[in-house]
Amino acid sequence: MKTIGLLGGMSWESTVGYYRAINEGVKKSLGGLHSAKIILHSVDFDPIEKLQQKGDWEGTTKILSEAALSIQAAGADFLLICTNTMHKVAPEIEKAIEIPLLHIADATAEHLTNNSISKVGLLGTAFTMEHDFYKGRLIEKYGLEVLVPNDRDRNIIHNVIYQELCLGQRIESSKAEYLRIIEHLSDQGAEAVILGCTEIGMLVSQADTKVELCDTTTIHAEKAVDYAI
Ligand code: GLU
Repeated sequence: MKTIGLLGGMSWESTVGYYRAINEGVKKSLGGLHSAKIILHSVDFDPIEKLQQKGDWEGTTKILSEAALSIQAAGADFLLICTNTMHKVAPEIEKAIEIPLLHIADATAEHLTNNSISKVGLLGTAFTMEHDFYKGRLIEKYGLEVLVPNDRDRNIIHNVIYQELCLGQRIESSKAEYLRIIEHLSDQGAEAVILGCTEIGMLVSQADTKVELCDTTTIHAEKAVDYAI
């Protein structure tokens, strides 16, 4: 079994989900007392979030590349960045290390393609919904059609992530808003909706809606288990 490198802490609330999902996946595959071999580097999210707000992506690259190098030096065979948003600087992190990076958008796109889904809604931070690093990869590399919510709804999704979910708060009225936005994307023709932020699965789950949800934390963790075993 390969050793999985996790670059986490963005937020730690969602990294807990990765740790659990990866270990459950290894247990399911190998049985008994098997568990995942993991090297976790969990960063302090506060300075990262401040750099995001300033648009200082170079600053985030510096912190995350150093963390990725320490994961590599500790013996990880490959790396996962446990956040969709920070894949904004995935190419730079990839350049800094020698071990492979399992890109979260690739894992998600493969999941969609395997399930014959070609038109998909995307929820995530404003960076993920609006910048090109994620959406662009789904469109250009995999030929997917990607729908995002309107301005007002993107704001709601974004603010709930940073002001509630990253702080471990699950608020019913926010869940209702998320479900409304998911329904709306489905009405517009989305065959599934990507929970493209690793905290969203803390708020909404498949049991809450008939619309097919693709939780990137689960999908990324499953990909890591497959690759490790
Ligand atoms: N975990 C989040 C994501 O998947 C947002 C936090 C961050 O800015 O990294 O995008």
